Amino acid sequence: MSDATEQTQFDIVVVGGGIVGLSMALLLAQQEMGWRVLVLEARSGHPNNDNEPFDARTTALSSHSRNLFEALGLWPAMQKYASHIHSIHVSDRGHVGMARLHAADASVDALGFVMENHIMVDALGQSLVRAKIPIFWSTTVSAVTLGIDGVTLNLGHKQPHVSAKLLVVADGGASETAAKLGIHTANDDLEQKALVANIGLAKTHAGIAYERFTAAGPLALLPLTACAGSPRAALVWTQATARIDALMQLDDVDFIGALQEEFGYRCGVFKSVGMRACYPINTSVAEEQIRHRVVLVGNSAHHLHPVAGQGLNLALRDVASLAERLARARTEGLDYASVKVLEQYRKSRFEDQRRVIGFTQHVPKLFANRSPVWITGRNTGLLALDLMAPMRRRFMHFGMVGQPSSERHV
Ligand SMILES: Cc1cc2nc3c(=O)[nH]c(=O)nc-3n(C[C@H](O)[C@H](O)[C@H](O)COP(=O)(O)OP(=O)(O)OC[C@H]3O[C@@H](n4cnc5c(N)ncnc54)[C@H](O)[C@@H]3O)c2cc1C
Repeated sequence: MSDATEQTQFDIVVVGGGIVGLSMALLLAQQEMGWRVLVLEARSGHPNNDNEPFDARTTALSSHSRNLFEALGLWPAMQKYASHIHSIHVSDRGHVGMARLHAADASVDALGFVMENHIMVDALGQSLVRAKIPIFWSTTVSAVTLGIDGVTLNLGHKQPHVSAKLLVVADGGASETAAKLGIHTANDDLEQKALVANIGLAKTHAGIAYERFTAAGPLALLPLTACAGSPRAALVWTQATARIDALMQLDDVDFIGALQEEFGYRCGVFKSVGMRACYPINTSVAEEQIRHRVVLVGNSAHHLHPVAGQGLNLALRDVASLAERLARARTEGLDYASVKVLEQYRKSRFEDQRRVIGFTQHVPKLFANRSPVWITGRNTGLLALDLMAPMRRRFMHFGMVGQPSSERHV
């Protein structure tokens, strides 16, 4: 990606070149409205830099997210890395309740698409180069000054400062940029971590995604595309911090043994495990998502529990709506970075965000409760879900695929 630009004045500066920030920049470029966009990213941009954390996460993309990548022209290159979810198997360890959700029940080809995050970041990054959007690597914001007409950012970069009409904050959970603006987040440190790793399987996963709730936290196994002909699945194992730290220390053989013990054999024998990484589960929601000339998106705005795979899908719906709202305001000759316009965006996203945030906060707590009354209730619920097609359909439109039914075909 190019980082050479003498320009210091932009329409929109996006801080954070993760999937959400890059998608936002590309959505603007795609509008062909001549937006002058700049992306600032803390990473160096050098591939395989061992000093930087590798994004080892894998995402279950909803069909809305898939369609967004299609609209950005990225899906044809991405799709060979996307594994289709044909069914979802939800269970409660040690109890009878279990639910199976099938794509056929919702009359769709797939309930979602599983893809490794680094594939998406690479595809978005290459597209950014083609769209000639500049990116300053190894750059963070050292100070932000908000004015009536614009925002000025001081950078620890060869370019000392840049200014823009609108600042889009997309630098992830625990956003440094939001903190510099004095924007507080309501944090909920669950004292848990999610361990992620790719697991080699002895038999094909048949497109089944498993979500298994255990006393100590949820365990998801998502179907991945095969590697050199060998079937693989992506593990997301959420547990108390101490337990994850211990699991990280195990050698591969003991780790696979512990996983097989916890998960059982419904996906066959686990043959191997790839690189393990873990992510703290600090869920947070920003107390302000917009200000005059500022908008927060992605994990900076709402950092959700990974259960049910909703965080990125929600954030992509947000940026799609934001880009559209900005374009409309500009076409109408309005100040697109004014509170008035940004408030319209916030209001339009309120209900979807409220429902998804509530759902992801509720589910882990529901399954963590070991009281017999709760166990009976949720097992009855899971069994009912398995038996009743209409209820199952409603769950599917809101559950792991994470999209309200009204936005299914966007
Ligand atoms: C284990 C796990 C599994 C998940 N699975 C799913 C799933 O299946 N489906 C789903 O929808 N969601 C899932 N999520 C959530 C999803 O990963 C996040 O919602 C999504 O990655 C958020 O993207 P982001 O771009 O907002 O943040 P990030 O991915 O954190 O990107 C932020 C970017 O900003 C950069 N940055 C940081 N600080 C600065 C700074 N000061 N200045 C400039 N740049 C900075 C970072 O280097 C990074 O590139 C999962 C999350 C976890 C932890």
